Amino acid sequence: MHNGEKQIERPLRWAMVGGGRLSQVGYKHRIGALRDNTAFQLTAGAFDIDPERGKSFGMNLGVEEDRCYADYKTMFAEEAGREDGIEAVSIATPNGTHFAICKAALEAGLHVICEKPLFFTSEEGELIKTLAEEKGKIVGVTYGFSGAPMLLQMRAMIAQGKIGDIRIVDLQYTHGFCASEESEKHSDAQKWRVDPAVAGPSFVLGDLSTHTYYMSQLIMPEMKIERLLCDRQSFVGSRAPLEDNAYVLMHYENGAVGTMWTSSVNAGCMDGHRIRIVGSKASLEWRDSRPDELVYEVQGKPMQKLIRGMPYLDELCLAEERLGALHAEGLSEAWSNIYLKFAIAMDAKNRGDNDMLDTLIYPDIKAGTDGIRWIENCVRSADGGAVWVDFE
Ligand code: NAD
Repeated sequence: MHNGEKQIERPLRWAMVGGGRLSQVGYKHRIGALRDNTAFQLTAGAFDIDPERGKSFGMNLGVEEDRCYADYKTMFAEEAGREDGIEAVSIATPNGTHFAICKAALEAGLHVICEKPLFFTSEEGELIKTLAEEKGKIVGVTYGFSGAPMLLQMRAMIAQGKIGDIRIVDLQYTHGFCASEESEKHSDAQKWRVDPAVAGPSFVLGDLSTHTYYMSQLIMPEMKIERLLCDRQSFVGSRAPLEDNAYVLMHYENGAVGTMWTSSVNAGCMDGHRIRIVGSKASLEWRDSRPDELVYEVQGKPMQKLIRGMPYLDELCLAEERLGALHAEGLSEAWSNIYLKFAIAMDAKNRGDNDMLDTLIYPDIKAGTDGIRWIENCVRSADGGAVWVDFE
């Protein structure tokens, strides 16, 4: 169980690009990174595309005025010249900026944490992977939900054969917030999400389903997709060519089959992020709306509901525990867990501790690049007329 004690020698000096006053995701980064004040210290930032707003926001967070920068290039250059300069940076800007900022950060000698979908192409992912290796730096990806402890319980139970051989993978990440084009009118963050120049080759496939795809790989690391078929729609026509709904059928190498439904037009839905894995003996089901529970159904036996924090859970899961059973948690716990692992990974890289890096489970550059590959394969299938394509 985490109790906030330090797991690395000292907190890393950390900065943000983006995540400013009006951003959707910035606060989640800060609760994740700063909850264990033994992992990261917010030291600098280029928080906003608007320099003045960024400075006032940063100062309100307690960052020194001269370390609230107008843009990321100035921040990387000036911080590199300081003895107490930043060591790690999180990128929480719109998708189209991730690659350039990530590359500049690595070239400035920084560890990087970047938002999903990581980049536009998997080639860019491979390039950054090589650059990070050359520079001896970590690139983590904020698949924030993936820090939910009960997902590791699923991983442990599947590895222990508790559900038998996997047959069916049923994935869903949907909501209804974009059921009409009104959402674009009222939100700048929604406007860029349907502009291919900023969002990339997809809307919901990248915005939503990359999370769930990574979570499925986290809980079933042995399950590889052999081929898939994706059918995508733009129910709000002005979003074309980007989709606001998509179905993906998957064939796995072991003969299992799967589906992913991802949508932002699932009108009224407030419980649309779920993972159900069906094996030959039993099934496991987890829902984002009830992250503390894992439903375990063995064929012919009463249903069991496993509860976060209870001693009967696997060590892998209990190691991520923060508050203990009976106390409801959720997204902040998940983000804090993955941010703590980012800090442990960066510290291990600095010390050359490859044993630690080999065993640490967290969303790394490979996971981020796999997410882009997922989008590329889905888009290739959908744009080819919803046909089966080999997963490349
Ligand atoms: P947003 O439009 O709400 O906020 C973007 C922020 O970045 C704003 O503060 C803006 O001023 C700033 N910004 C833009 N360009 C900048 C630049 N060049 N330099 C400095 N700051 C800049 O966007 P959002 O919804 O917060 O999404 C940002 C990223 O986070 C996207 O990649 C999105 O996919 C991702 N996201 C991830 C999750 C998650 O759960 N991991 C949730 C929401 C968004």
